Amino acid sequence: MKLWFALFTVAFAADWKDQAVIHLESSPHALLKPVPVRAVTFTPGFWQSRQKVTAESSLPSLLALLEQNGYIDNFRRLKNKDLPRRGPLYTDSDVYKWMEAAAWALHTGPHPQLESRLNELIELVLSVQEPSGYLNTWHIGDREKQRFQLQETNHELYCLGHWLQAGYAVYRYNGDRRLLDAGAKFVDYLLTIGGPGKQPLLTGHPELELALAELYRITGEKKYLDFAAYLFSGVEKDRLKITPQRASYMFSGIPFTSRDKFEGHAVRALYAATGAADYWLETGDAAYKKTLDTLWRDLVSSKMFVTGGVGSRAAGETFGDAYELPNRQAYTESCAAIANWIFQQRLLAGSGNARYTAVMERALYNGINSGMSLSGNMYCYRNPLASAGEKIRNPWYNTLCCPPNLQRTFMSLGGYFYSTSKDNGLWLHFYDSHRLDWRLPSGAAIKAEMKTGMPWRGDVQYTLTPASATSMTLHLRIPEWSLQTKVSINGVPYPGKVAPNTYLALKRTWKPGDVVTMSFDMTPHRVAANPRVPETYGKVSIQRGPFLYCLEQPDVNGASVFDIFLNPGAPLNPVTRKDKFEGEITVLESRGLSLPAPATGAALYTYGQPAQPIKPLPLTLVPYYTFNNRGDAPFTVWLPQTK
Ligand SMILES: [Zn+2]
Repeated sequence: MKLWFALFTVAFAADWKDQAVIHLESSPHALLKPVPVRAVTFTPGFWQSRQKVTAESSLPSLLALLEQNGYIDNFRRLKNKDLPRRGPLYTDSDVYKWMEAAAWALHTGPHPQLESRLNELIELVLSVQEPSGYLNTWHIGDREKQRFQLQETNHELYCLGHWLQAGYAVYRYNGDRRLLDAGAKFVDYLLTIGGPGKQPLLTGHPELELALAELYRITGEKKYLDFAAYLFSGVEKDRLKITPQRASYMFSGIPFTSRDKFEGHAVRALYAATGAADYWLETGDAAYKKTLDTLWRDLVSSKMFVTGGVGSRAAGETFGDAYELPNRQAYTESCAAIANWIFQQRLLAGSGNARYTAVMERALYNGINSGMSLSGNMYCYRNPLASAGEKIRNPWYNTLCCPPNLQRTFMSLGGYFYSTSKDNGLWLHFYDSHRLDWRLPSGAAIKAEMKTGMPWRGDVQYTLTPASATSMTLHLRIPEWSLQTKVSINGVPYPGKVAPNTYLALKRTWKPGDVVTMSFDMTPHRVAANPRVPETYGKVSIQRGPFLYCLEQPDVNGASVFDIFLNPGAPLNPVTRKDKFEGEITVLESRGLSLPAPATGAALYTYGQPAQPIKPLPLTLVPYYTFNNRGDAPFTVWLPQTK
């Protein structure tokens, strides 16, 4: 009996260390099981640099701003009433998201300063939680009576969702459950006071749903998954008097399975869909799957920007109509692109279909990546596809959702690179230089090392080191942009077809030291939009590898970026440059024609044909994510082409 208990304790103790960003090991409908964040270590290359800047510059500087702006004092104030409550009512979530990002940073390597500040914050949160489990720094004092009374706007459950997610990241770092358990105590309190026949509950800003699914995965307690189902059920629609307009805007309050399109607030909608996908991964509920498929098609066929960003309208931060994808006016909040990323991650886990990974890659390298400056301390709330030079990057926003959301995404990124599957399969989703140290479903240890010029160059050398020769299937994602991919194993070319936008399954006995070499087709593409998108009709965007490109004013001599036409036949030559930004990037050099600059005072309208571009000029395109790292300059993704 004692021995059994000891074994159980060891198994449980080891479990936290092996949990991924989402812990799908026991999820019956997850075909793919993500690997833990710590299993992947980036080596010199693109993402190692982005993680370094996030951990060393972005996280410390944002924490200083959270202090300066009183967002952490909002918690201290619960013990020291003399401190003022500062910022909007949802600031708790910003602190929790910073904590989550810091915890993921610790998974990637030692960061003693971050660790000690994180521990201080954990102690602070624990010390101000009410005995019931409730904690929200806004709804205290005179506002205490408003608790759960203004659920469409008060963000109490939204903040709790982020609290739980910070708790999971800490738990998975060192096994410390205190933050997680404290969040679960709040959920238990909600279950005591709320639900059918009690206080009706609603996520005015969905987010808690996905955190509840994860709490179920960690604890095995079905009440948490049932709580998510309750929130998705719309059962409180009448008691809460949810109007159709509010149900549309919040993407909440009516049955999730009654949805047939994305609408309303983009982040709310995609967080709700992500939580619903989590629910489906646990239950296999067919009505949820049908709704998720319908929503996915709606998104990718008519509502997603070429950057992977979403949310067309500033008013309400909402989706627009189908094909309403403006360039300068695009809202495309960083959080919405991140929400798209995690939504697709769940659908990928349930299917192994590369179409979801393609969207993830598009969002990650473009619409998410743009959100944080190269220096790591300037952030985009909006990520438009063109700008006339207005200020887009800022170090701080009172509504601070995006900066720590970007940080947690970058710091947990390794956990998105791989999955395993029950065919003793190892799935590789993205390409960058890294080392893997994990195990196969059979239990056999596996190490791997990738050396690659990706995402700038298409060469990949991938060395697999299973503990001993083992039969396994390596599933390599072939990106949709690589039209001709070469794959060799130990120097022998793979004889079959290597189709873009699929996973290539290589089943064999893999031996230590086996080498897969790959060569991706890095030919730049002109990308056209569906002609029903009015803003981009007759224009093209340029993509090379996973990166979308843009034309930015500092790279245009003597013309406006909005006057320039691309020559359809002109080559797009990749050139490695070290002088444009700190570090190496690949620019694309081409030729175009410029419109004659209109004379000062020229009429707005004239009879006759529009002006024609006549002045030839060289063009240099830079990756979209680098926009406005050289000041608030005009830029554009979509370029008209000459005939
Ligand atoms: Zn945001």
